[in-house]
Amino acid sequence: MSSFSRHSYRFSALAIAIALLAGCAAQPAAQPTPAEPSPEAVDCAATKCAALTFDDGPGKFTDRLLDELGAQHTPATFFVLGKNVKKHPEALERMVQEGHQIGSHTFDHKDLTTLTAEGIEQEVQWTEEAIEEAAGVRPAILRPPYGSHGAVYDRLVPYPLVLWDVDTMDWQHHDPKKTVEIAMEEVSPGSIILMHDIHESSVQAVPQLVEELRQAGYTLVTVEQLFSGTEFKDSKAYDKRSMPHSQ
Ligand SMILES: [Zn+2]
Repeated sequence: MSSFSRHSYRFSALAIAIALLAGCAAQPAAQPTPAEPSPEAVDCAATKCAALTFDDGPGKFTDRLLDELGAQHTPATFFVLGKNVKKHPEALERMVQEGHQIGSHTFDHKDLTTLTAEGIEQEVQWTEEAIEEAAGVRPAILRPPYGSHGAVYDRLVPYPLVLWDVDTMDWQHHDPKKTVEIAMEEVSPGSIILMHDIHESSVQAVPQLVEELRQAGYTLVTVEQLFSGTEFKDSKAYDKRSMPHSQ
């Protein structure tokens, strides 16, 4: 229900914007609308960036996480399981509407290195279809379950494989405070931070984590934004943005 009203709001806002633009053609400059920085506006080569990533959902806490991220104007990246997308398609719609990135985490969390070529192809394809059906977008990145991959298997994945360099171990300790502590201890410019939105304790850690990362000077971005302007190739694995450091 809330996703519907948000949707209509976005549409009316867009309609008003178009009307304003059209109406203002013959008039002096239109009022600039304050907006979130666009993806192009963030230059992670010059700014300390980090990407929050959430795996294994969507689940019953994902909506709450989206509320928290929205309240803090924070984009994130969700590596979703195709089978969970089928259960919570509305969460995917919200992710897209609210400026988050969606990546594939396979259909049912299979270790890619145990599959045949055909098996990998199916996991990729089924998940792509589920995401497209739910949200009208295709994933452009994949995180292999368990971080398990290898050159032979990576070649069969038609997207960049996105790993992580900061593992909060949230799934193991279920302690929001510890999640924040580990992330803050291990984060560095270009970091990809791993969390799981299927655990309530991970969602509870987010407001504090975002606040502390911002205080430490980090701009939070999606994975796509993190790698913008740098090498990011299909079938290759990345665990953080390597920074050509100029600062
Ligand atoms: Zn996983």
